Amino acid sequence: MKRRLFIAGNWKLNKTAAETTETVADLKAKLADFNGSLDVALFPPFLSIAAGQAAAAGSPIGIGAQNVHFAESGAYTGELSAAMLKEAGIELVIIGHSERRQYFGETNETVNLRTKAALAAGIKPFVCIGETLEEREGGNMESVLKAQIVEGFADITAEQMTNLVVAYEPVWAIGTGVTASPEQAQDTHAYIRSEFAALYGQEVADKVIIQYGGSVKPANVAELMSCEDIDGALVGGASLKADDFSALILNAAALS
Ligand code: PEP
Repeated sequence: MKRRLFIAGNWKLNKTAAETTETVADLKAKLADFNGSLDVALFPPFLSIAAGQAAAAGSPIGIGAQNVHFAESGAYTGELSAAMLKEAGIELVIIGHSERRQYFGETNETVNLRTKAALAAGIKPFVCIGETLEEREGGNMESVLKAQIVEGFADITAEQMTNLVVAYEPVWAIGTGVTASPEQAQDTHAYIRSEFAALYGQEVADKVIIQYGGSVKPANVAELMSCEDIDGALVGGASLKADDFSALILNAAALS
């Protein structure tokens, strides 16, 4: 049984507030005939979130943040707490994106702390996991993913598992134009789900939403989303233009 798909766009360090207003308004118009069969969200930079929320009002497009700190307050220059996000009406947050792991020292432990802080504040985390090319080619893909799951989801309850989204993003497929083949992606998603089954039991694992991310485009989304264990997409480049992102969403929605 397929789970409800969740298609989300990570804008990374792109789009001012004015550009966000324009793109979200355009996307909203292009989704006028959207059948509502899947969930949709965009993650603009922090300072563009309010513009995104205003432009998305009355549409099915959720607006989230790209990061959250785990502390409630304190000496963490440049960070924002979960309570601050919540007060700003933010209910979705990406945690542990590979760029944050690579450039900002994010570890499985900090991913875990941020995930728990978001959940405690009633914010849905989109927790990113994924292996590098070196790890895959060295035969370490499963051990890397297992550590990301066991350490990144430590102390997360079964109930909380059904209130978050896991995003599997092979690092070698992010922004490279190289997509995992549907077979490669399905095999890895099935492995990830089996690790959640080992931790939480099959019934819970069967409910966990596992997105795929890595060069997802309008042309390949249907094939990927048709795979049994792929429950949506976290999209970078193809979420930046309303034309591309609306086509991608509508192609996925046409499957259900
Ligand atoms: C991402 O950054 O999460 C991503 C998947 O990027 P892209 O779609 O551009 O590969």
